Amino acid sequence: MAAGRFEISDLPAKRYKYHRSRAKHYQRPRKRAGQRTASTGRQILKIMMTTRLQFLFFLSLSALVSGGEATHDSERRMHPVFALADALPSRFKRAMPQIVFNALNTEERYAEYWEGLAGETLEQQLESKSRLNTQLARNVMLFIGDGMSIPTITAGRVYLGGEEKQFAFEQFPYVGLSKTYCANMQVADSACTATAYLGGVKANYGTVGVTAAVQFKDCQAQSQPANRVASIAAWAQSQGMATGLVTTTSVTHASPAGVYAHIANRNWENDAEVLADNGDPTICPDAAAQLIHSPVGQKLSVILGGGRENFLPKDVKDAGGAPGRRLDGRNLIDEWKSQHTNSAHYVENRKDLLNLSNRTSRVLGLFAPYHMAYHLDANPTEQPTLEEMVQVAMDILERQSAGRGYFLFVEGGRIDHGHHDTLALRAIDETAEFDKAVRYARSQTSTDDTLIVVSSDHSHTMSLAGYSSRKNDIFGINDGQLAADDLPYATLSYANGPGYDTNYLREGGAVKRKNLRSINMKNKDFMFPSTVPLESETHGGDDVAVFASGPYAQLFSGVYEQHFIPHAMSYASCLGERSMCADRGIARRPR
Ligand SMILES: [Zn+2]
Repeated sequence: MAAGRFEISDLPAKRYKYHRSRAKHYQRPRKRAGQRTASTGRQILKIMMTTRLQFLFFLSLSALVSGGEATHDSERRMHPVFALADALPSRFKRAMPQIVFNALNTEERYAEYWEGLAGETLEQQLESKSRLNTQLARNVMLFIGDGMSIPTITAGRVYLGGEEKQFAFEQFPYVGLSKTYCANMQVADSACTATAYLGGVKANYGTVGVTAAVQFKDCQAQSQPANRVASIAAWAQSQGMATGLVTTTSVTHASPAGVYAHIANRNWENDAEVLADNGDPTICPDAAAQLIHSPVGQKLSVILGGGRENFLPKDVKDAGGAPGRRLDGRNLIDEWKSQHTNSAHYVENRKDLLNLSNRTSRVLGLFAPYHMAYHLDANPTEQPTLEEMVQVAMDILERQSAGRGYFLFVEGGRIDHGHHDTLALRAIDETAEFDKAVRYARSQTSTDDTLIVVSSDHSHTMSLAGYSSRKNDIFGINDGQLAADDLPYATLSYANGPGYDTNYLREGGAVKRKNLRSINMKNKDFMFPSTVPLESETHGGDDVAVFASGPYAQLFSGVYEQHFIPHAMSYASCLGERSMCADRGIARRPR
């Protein structure tokens, strides 16, 4: 029997019985805990029943069940400061990924196997850590898996084929932990964190590229130059380096905006959104306008992602027929084209991206009206993968760097969105796609001169629970035990989110869990169970991992504040003050 298709009903009777009896052994305390949870659930439900929230809640959930498209509504739910586009990218059915496990390794029964493995790891550790790499990082790449919590990585290994598998970035020699809270919040969002890991300063929730002196939506404060935070892309540009950004979200979304924008509300992706908050777009330009016209945005050689609607006027439709959202009548894509020479190219599909001439000096690629489709939903002939975008980006940046090196920011932006909808399969598939891009970047560059840092902006609330057998399907039922209600439970579940309503039944006044055996958990639209009902699952406040490889990667070990990351990259690549620099003698000079 293939372990990947293991269901609880397939368990040999003996093992099953054993675990049932083990569950019974612990029944008492567990039942109490279960009762508490159920009664808390009932209380929450009661409050909701008595308010008009009930209506809104069920309305939003019914929209949710349809899956994970990037809509205005889903954005508002995910990041409560939001109001975004209603463009629905058409959905394509990709073959569902099959987890293929190798057979269980019988050698694992012997101590010698584990001793041998430990010996190999020891050799790798001695090899990678006995000699510090203190060369100058000519190139620096920062890869952020948005919402890529540590449990996401752990679950992702099973998706790759087994608990013992590794992502490419896990093979990096140095790992640290980044503390992600923002200046005013325990649990961060992608805006304040982008300001930290790109600008080196902690900021307020919902704000990008400004100090914590700027409160959310404070246009006046945003317009003060003293409150703006320059990003590592700006530092690199001042050294004459080539710079670029690649993301699977809109290029105006919070994380990529950290590269070039200074905005008091991450939601100000176009001028209509600034106006909706009674702001003046001439005083507080939106993110799209800043991307095309700010000093940093103008110098970016590579801009790849989604978000066409934020660059087009309301009465103009894009190639796919989706209208723009701008009220100022400006076509920022045309403005970008007219700013740059004819070796700069605008593209909006995979074919045109991959067919760019090798004389291309600059590229603006916008592949979707808003966010790019999830990898599992995308039409593979129309939409490039993250890895393909990174391939093109590195080619162009290498050419444009003229020996001075480059800085590239890459975001796997939709890991976060999968989690918000408790669509764990999508979140983890996006993580695997993100890793392919990292693997490519590391394979094409030398650890002698290219520093690659891989991290996340914040965590999520997904956990891996219970005592499933080895190589049990990570998206399936926990095969180790039944719960106190005699029903199986999923290995993956969330502390909160929309997966509450899809996994619980209301019978009379009681709330009961649905029987997962009767649900197709393999469906990519299956929402994993959540304990607390919320229309969108929240971010988590736990630390995220930082993986580093290349010059001065050792600086990234330890536990530190997230805003330290760009300062360490700057030291390795000599981007800032000479006193905070790996190599005082380097010849990199402003052009
Ligand atoms: Zn999020």
